[in-house]
Amino acid sequence: MEQQVLDRLHDIVGPDGVVAHKSARSVYDCDGYTLEKAVPELVVLPHSTEEVAAVVKFLNKAKIAFVPRGAGTGLSGGCLPVEAPVMIGTSRLNKIVHIDLLNRYVVAQSGVVNLWVSNAVKEQGFQYAPDPSSQQACTIGGNIAENSGGPHTLKYGVTTNHVLGLEVVLPDGEIVTLGGTVEDVPGYDLRGITIGAEGTFGIVTQAALKLTRQPQAYRTFLAVFESVHHATQTVSGIIASGIVPAALEMMDTLIIQAIEEAFHFGFPTDAGAVLIIEIDGLAASLDPQTERIQAICKHNQAREVRIARDDAERMALWKSRKRAFGAIGRLSPNYCTQDGVVPRTKVPDILQRITEVSEKYQLRIANVFHAGDGNIHPILMYDERNADETRRVVQAGKEILNACVDLGGSLTGEHGIGVEKMGQMPLIFSPEDLMVMTQLRSVFNPANLCNPNKIIPTPGGCIDVTTPRRQVPL
Ligand SMILES: Cc1cc2nc3c(=O)[nH]c(=O)nc-3n(C[C@H](O)[C@H](O)[C@H](O)COP(=O)(O)OP(=O)(O)OC[C@H]3O[C@@H](n4cnc5c(N)ncnc54)[C@H](O)[C@@H]3O)c2cc1C
Repeated sequence: MEQQVLDRLHDIVGPDGVVAHKSARSVYDCDGYTLEKAVPELVVLPHSTEEVAAVVKFLNKAKIAFVPRGAGTGLSGGCLPVEAPVMIGTSRLNKIVHIDLLNRYVVAQSGVVNLWVSNAVKEQGFQYAPDPSSQQACTIGGNIAENSGGPHTLKYGVTTNHVLGLEVVLPDGEIVTLGGTVEDVPGYDLRGITIGAEGTFGIVTQAALKLTRQPQAYRTFLAVFESVHHATQTVSGIIASGIVPAALEMMDTLIIQAIEEAFHFGFPTDAGAVLIIEIDGLAASLDPQTERIQAICKHNQAREVRIARDDAERMALWKSRKRAFGAIGRLSPNYCTQDGVVPRTKVPDILQRITEVSEKYQLRIANVFHAGDGNIHPILMYDERNADETRRVVQAGKEILNACVDLGGSLTGEHGIGVEKMGQMPLIFSPEDLMVMTQLRSVFNPANLCNPNKIIPTPGGCIDVTTPRRQVPL
């Protein structure tokens, strides 16, 4: 990086806000998607919206591409610097700016960690509902960029349902507000299209987030099954009964064993699958739902249905689930977490296809996922020192996503396209669709300097416009 660029960025953010040394920059070489790596030439850590705007204005003028980064927990390579020399990290934008309990919102800077928001209001009986399993680390900015979900998405919705307004530094350095602090600001919903744009429309610097009342009561079940088939039948049965659980999560044998070894919760390691089912709401409403859920589990040959006896047991169960990916570290030096969606009724079919892929490519694949949403997360284990195994993981991942599309689903449920799935976008979008997306991006990001080489495949790059698309008509 040229000295004058370094000097100017030092001037804006101070010397402690620029990471230039190679060894320090190397920790930013990937996110949670470790199959591709690239070290940024420079990392800049601004302290305020004004500093972000000044940095971006300077880079735009100098025609230097840049990539936003939150905590780097993304699972599709979204913050990988691909032909973007400068990374702009939000770790110092870490303040909760304002809490308005009466109007039920919080204004938080984009580098605030997801869980901090709920922690800030829990004594008053509120929560920030989106709860990605990475919530102890991932940031509000990353959640907004990916439109993240979580185990409780089934009932409460994803990030976009809980964001009222955004402050964004556009790729030319202008600071704009999209949306506001009240519901439904008139005009086009620019807030809505910025959420899920994976950092290609600008850098979010702060956001107004909706607060939700904590439920009066919870009931959390651990249902144990001999087979994945019986567990999926139970998922369909619960939804068909009209109950909307707050969460409905499934884990297969391999992941149960890894979690049990790590956390000793008491999961049965010989089970074919377990479901974590949670219902919440008014205490009086939970007894009839509990009876119904127990009956459905029994009808589908559940070996056992446990109910968390108290809050501590409930928290321990969720802690085990939310740390499931980490537990995989005991089984394999590297893993790739895939993220696809199928119609809920097709969960047994996709799990069968995953088993076939696992056999075909001789890979161990564990499954832990948001079964109620049909959002699968097969975890493909590998050792990056083994080039052949690494190649097989990439192929197997692609085949699983192709199978999701074949079954009427989609390429991502919550982790985004990033660099990982760009090449498969033509499976569900025509060249015309992709052109419209490029035009939309140009409105915000005309020079394509902000997070280039993400989401939309480029002609001459990995796009294969001859692949017939398989988008399912409504
Ligand atoms: C163990 C584990 C469990 C996970 N569980 C879930 C889950 O349950 N649900 C789920 O949805 N995801 C999950 N994820 C994926 C990941 O945590 C989310 O995508 C999360 O939102 C990423 O946040 P981050 O701060 O780490 O963002 P990063 O990884 O740093 O960045 C992600 C994307 O956001 C962009 N970005 C970051 N900050 C900004 C900003 N301020 N403005 C504009 N763009 C920005 C980046 O350029 C990149 O494209 C999990 C990941 C792990 C490792």
